[in-house]
Amino acid sequence: MTVYLVGAGPGDPGLLTARALELIAGADVIVYDRLIPATALDGARADAQLLYAGKEGGGPSASQEEIEAMLLEHGAAGREVVRLKGGDPFVFGRGGEEAERLRAAGIPFEVVPGITAGVAASAYAGIPVTHRDAASAVAFITGHEDPAKPESALDWAALARFPGTLVVYMGVRRLDGIARELMAGGRPGTEPAAIIQRGTLPDQRVVTGTLDTIAEEAAAAGVKAPAISLFGPVAALRGQLAWFESRPLGGRTVAVTRARAQASGLAARLRELGAAVVEAPAIRIQEIDGPAPELRRYDLVCLTSPNGVRLLFDRLYRAGRDARAFGDSRVAAIGPGTAAAMRQHGVIADVVPERFVAEGLVEALAGVPVSRALIARAAQARDVLPDALRERGADVDVLELYETVAEPMSDRQREAVAGADYVTFTSSSTVRFFFESLDGAVPETARLVSIGPVTSQTLREHGREPDVEAVSHDIDGLVLALVDDVGHAVP
Ligand code: SAH
Repeated sequence: MTVYLVGAGPGDPGLLTARALELIAGADVIVYDRLIPATALDGARADAQLLYAGKEGGGPSASQEEIEAMLLEHGAAGREVVRLKGGDPFVFGRGGEEAERLRAAGIPFEVVPGITAGVAASAYAGIPVTHRDAASAVAFITGHEDPAKPESALDWAALARFPGTLVVYMGVRRLDGIARELMAGGRPGTEPAAIIQRGTLPDQRVVTGTLDTIAEEAAAAGVKAPAISLFGPVAALRGQLAWFESRPLGGRTVAVTRARAQASGLAARLRELGAAVVEAPAIRIQEIDGPAPELRRYDLVCLTSPNGVRLLFDRLYRAGRDARAFGDSRVAAIGPGTAAAMRQHGVIADVVPERFVAEGLVEALAGVPVSRALIARAAQARDVLPDALRERGADVDVLELYETVAEPMSDRQREAVAGADYVTFTSSSTVRFFFESLDGAVPETARLVSIGPVTSQTLREHGREPDVEAVSHDIDGLVLALVDDVGHAVP
């Protein structure tokens, strides 16, 4: 029984520490704040109790008293409790007070530091908070005075004389007053300044200026909390060191419509390239139950998707069989993703076409003798491949392994999709179900990205011309085409 006071970092899920993820995964109870990464709780146990302790917008704060009562209650009951806070728990996080309460109650606690916003947002803005030539010290300051404190709790004149970088948390509303007090205290009006909103998040915004101009610039740009402001010569280094915005998909919002189970790879790649990803799965894969097929009876076994591979092997494994079930059968995969999935189960595909569509597979099989073929695939797939093989005189069985069904979209997802710059489609079924769940109201402003000609055709049938079509009809190709389109986009 321990209460862990855990920092979740500034917002980028990649900046959660390994220790934080480990504790989240094991916790009985998680008491979390608003400013934690969106995906921070994904790894929590399904039966973990998740308690929200933050405040919404500028509304009244969930009382600190209540939060501490929660920690005491669950801690005393012997549960593993994670108190998850944005940034670092001991930097303007009231972690100190919570630790005091726990100590007084005799409840054991541990502290897991997190990356604090003052350091992280600055770094993502290309501003080193210290620098050999420009700043030998850095101060973290709250710009939001505790209203209960007397006016003089912060000595701005003394802070103005501080020989180093000043980083102000929670100071957006008082930015004008803070800048003026610093100038009144002797800092030059020409001193470089920056304000960073939602640092480390895909929609991070940075406004730069000088002590003299920063408040006006921030107001003009509509900068809002959460943001940190930074004063000192290092702020000027952003001019040379900005990096976050120049990533290939920086500033772009991309919706991913493929099934949740498959979306993570694509979503991760897009995020790595700087995109804000909206996960809006239009479809779900529903397994069709059945026995393991007798694969050795076929001289050709065709797999047309990684899902098909997974579900075919599920059937084999359930029957106590393994890759040897393929015997001498030739194995064809529709594309590299499917071939890679086969490899994971110890089978190397004999045939992988150059064009990753059914027609491509038909061409690739042209010189391959086939008398009995099995095509393991989705229920509603096109019949190009079985028809072509039958025409060549082969005996063809189709094994339907799964069905693609609609995944309902929440209002929140709908809203997020409406703001997307790009919507990606990785199959005809994602197009069909996406248009269906939006009732045809697919955002006009979004550019539609199609994985290949079949998906593009389905888009046309729904009245929309794809704006981008992948040259190589797989996930790599789709990502490449998207990056290429952003590169060519007229700003
Ligand atoms: N414990 C947190 C700070 C909590 S106070 C930490 O160590 O970072 C809340 C303030 O933190 C916000 O008002 C804002 O000033 C700052 N902040 C938190 N997340 C931020 C982010 N992603 N970008 C910029 N500032 C952030």
